[in-house]
Amino acid sequence: MRISLLATGGTISNQAGAGGATPGRDAQTLAAAAQAAGRDIVLTTRDVSQLSSRNMTPAAMWTLARAVDEDIQAGAEGIIITHGTDTLEETAYALSLLVPTPVPVVLTGAMRVPGSPGEDGPANLAAAAAVATTPRFAAYGPLVVHQDEIHLARWVAKVHSTRVAAFGSPPAGPVGMVAEGRALAFFGPLPSERLPHAAAPGKRVEIIWAAAGSDGLLVEAIRDRVDGLVVAALGGGHVPAPLAEALVRAAADGLPVVLASRCAAAQILHHTYGGVGGEIHLQAGGLVSAGALSAAKARLRLLFGLSAGLSAAELFPPAD
Ligand code: ASP
Repeated sequence: MRISLLATGGTISNQAGAGGATPGRDAQTLAAAAQAAGRDIVLTTRDVSQLSSRNMTPAAMWTLARAVDEDIQAGAEGIIITHGTDTLEETAYALSLLVPTPVPVVLTGAMRVPGSPGEDGPANLAAAAAVATTPRFAAYGPLVVHQDEIHLARWVAKVHSTRVAAFGSPPAGPVGMVAEGRALAFFGPLPSERLPHAAAPGKRVEIIWAAAGSDGLLVEAIRDRVDGLVVAALGGGHVPAPLAEALVRAAADGLPVVLASRCAAAQILHHTYGGVGGEIHLQAGGLVSAGALSAAKARLRLLFGLSAGLSAAELFPPAD
C-alpha cells in the first residue's frame, strides 16, 4: 500500500541537546519504525514542519490539512502524521473539520524522547501504520493512535502530562485497538465532524476558563478584540453570576459565545439548573452549547467555522 508519512515535530522527532530536547529528526528517519509494522508498505515522507506542538497554530493546522489532501489526491492509500503530544488532540480535531478522509488518516506521537529507556515512538509508529493500512478506518475520520489504542478525534485528550499512557477518550473510551499488528474496531464510526466549507483561519477565538469567584474581568478586557469566545464553564455549563452577566452581555451584542465545560468528560445541560449563571440562563442569554465537545476543540470549531462564513448557530446546532 502507498502510505504517506507527514512529520510535524514533537517529542517523537526530538534530539537530545545541551539545552534540552528539541525537534530535529526528519520524516525519513521516522519512516523505519513505520515500516516495522511488517506490512507491505511503499512509504513516502514529507517534512511539513519541525515544531514543538506548543507552537502549532490554526494556520499550521490548515497547512497540514492541505498537505494531507494533496497526498490523498496524489494516490496515498493511508496517511500517518507524527506530532507533538501537547496539542495532538487539537490538530486531530482540526483535521476532522477540514479534510475528507477517503483513506485512513492517523496521528501519533511519543512521550519519551528517542534514545531514552523504553522509548515509545517506534511502537506508536508501528501501530499507526497498522491502522493506516486498514481501509475501513477511513470512515472514522482522523484518528489518534497511542499505546496500541485508537482514539476518535472528537473524544481524544492528553490525560497525563508525563506517563507513557498519556491519551484517553474520557467521554467514550477508545474506538479500537491494535493487537498482533492488526487494527480492530470496538464500535462503528460517528457522523463526520467536517465543516460544509473549509477556509484558511482568519478569525480569533479565545477561551475563558471559569473558576470559583471568576468575574467578568477577562470577558470585558477582550470582547472587542476577538471574533468569538468559548467559556470553559463549571460542571454541566455553569459560571459565577458576575461572569455570566458579562458573557450574556457580550452575546447580546452579537459576539458568538460557546458554552463548554472544563470537566474532562462533559455534557452541557439544557434544562436542569435555574438562576443566574445556570445553564438555562446562559443559553437563554444567547450562549450556544458545545454539547460534549471540549473547550479547546469547540474553539477550533468556532474559529474555522467563522472563518468559512458559518454562524455559531450553524456550527453548534441544538441537540436533538
Ligand atoms: N512538548 C512536546 C510537544 O508537544 C511533547 C511531546 O511531543 O510529547 O511537542
